[in-house]
Amino acid sequence: MFKHYRLAAQIALLTGIASATISCAGSDSDTTLKADNGKQWYKGNTHTHTLWSDGDAAPEYAVSWYKEQGYDFLSLTDHNVLSRGTKDISIKPDYKLSPERVEQLKKMFGAENVMVHTKDGKPVMRLRTLDQLQGQFEEPGKFLLIEGEEITGKTHVNGINLEKVLRASKSKNNIESMRQQVALVDEHSKQAGRPMFAHINHANWSAGISAEEIAAVPEARYFEIYNGHGGVKNWGDEKEGKAHMDTKWDIILTHRLSKNKNDIMYGVATDDTHNYFGKGSARPGRGWSMVLADDLSPNSITEAFLRGDFYSSAGVTLDSISWNDTSYTVAAKPEAGVTYTTQFIGTRKGYDASSSTLKGPDGEPMTHRTRIYSKDIGEVLYETTDNPAVYTFKGDEIYVRAKIISSKPKSDPFKAGDPELAWTQPIVR
Ligand SMILES: [Zn+2]
Ligand SMILES: [Zn+2]
Repeated sequence: MFKHYRLAAQIALLTGIASATISCAGSDSDTTLKADNGKQWYKGNTHTHTLWSDGDAAPEYAVSWYKEQGYDFLSLTDHNVLSRGTKDISIKPDYKLSPERVEQLKKMFGAENVMVHTKDGKPVMRLRTLDQLQGQFEEPGKFLLIEGEEITGKTHVNGINLEKVLRASKSKNNIESMRQQVALVDEHSKQAGRPMFAHINHANWSAGISAEEIAAVPEARYFEIYNGHGGVKNWGDEKEGKAHMDTKWDIILTHRLSKNKNDIMYGVATDDTHNYFGKGSARPGRGWSMVLADDLSPNSITEAFLRGDFYSSAGVTLDSISWNDTSYTVAAKPEAGVTYTTQFIGTRKGYDASSSTLKGPDGEPMTHRTRIYSKDIGEVLYETTDNPAVYTFKGDEIYVRAKIISSKPKSDPFKAGDPELAWTQPIVR
């Protein structure tokens, strides 16, 4: 019998914060995610930096960029800080806040909204707080800011819909660091009585986090399948022994779901924007989530993430995602002259679970590197250029997820030549 498992939804039910979930048509086991019955797809980015930490733009500039580009929601997620309190940034020529940038802000938002004063005889600008930004930019049903933080220790974990700043774990161990930082968000959610979620960021950045390390933190339910920062090696790096993020997702899912059907891992796409002015490799507009929610409020959007009612995009827009006992259907929003290749990816029961250590050029095992597995893990079960794309379950899948590859190149891509892409969440069998 077909079942889909959504632990997050079960948790939400237990804590009493879930609302009606999915639109059902036909039999009880038919699930369709599409804009219907008052629900809408909302586009948002949950990973953004500003002058509150190491981004190069004032927060109002960042927020205005996303609003102008038609995003519905945005989380400013600066490192270990919320956009609260007072923070003054020096105004200096050839600095991230130059006199020209300040003039630009005055032109864009009015001089009355740019708070320049002198400190120790030197000019500074006071950053606008989330409260002020909400008053300036939010519009009911049109644009929303959701409070967030990039909890930045040995690993980086974004907490979304927070009420207070959370202090990063001091652990130098990847697994402990992730576990403690995700736990901070979960505890905060329980105490505050409102939905929150945490996603593990850029597992291929810097020293890296292996798929096995993420799989070993069952508390973690979300990770970035795609991060728009040019330095994060989404597609892997042979020299550094880093696996493709899709490969890592399949290893995590197989490790977890073969033991416990509730141990899902969702993939989110984000920008991790740092660079708003054309320089640098972490520019806005590369990766985002499309969330099917009841309305545009922080709790509704977060609850939809907790239910798994979202897909991740680096360009492709979907109309609907549906599944029942026999099939899984993904419909891309048609665009003239554009074709879509949809891959249904999964691991089947009885897979070859053998693996070997990845060794460096010196013959020694590489640390924080994903092991090498058989092709049974994350197999392309079916590929089609039909739209809608329909996969018929064979009956022995542990999970199935879809990756949609457009014939259209992505504008300002993560890597030159990238097509537009989307990823749906895994269906657990
Ligand atoms: Zn980070
Ligand atoms: Zn970041």
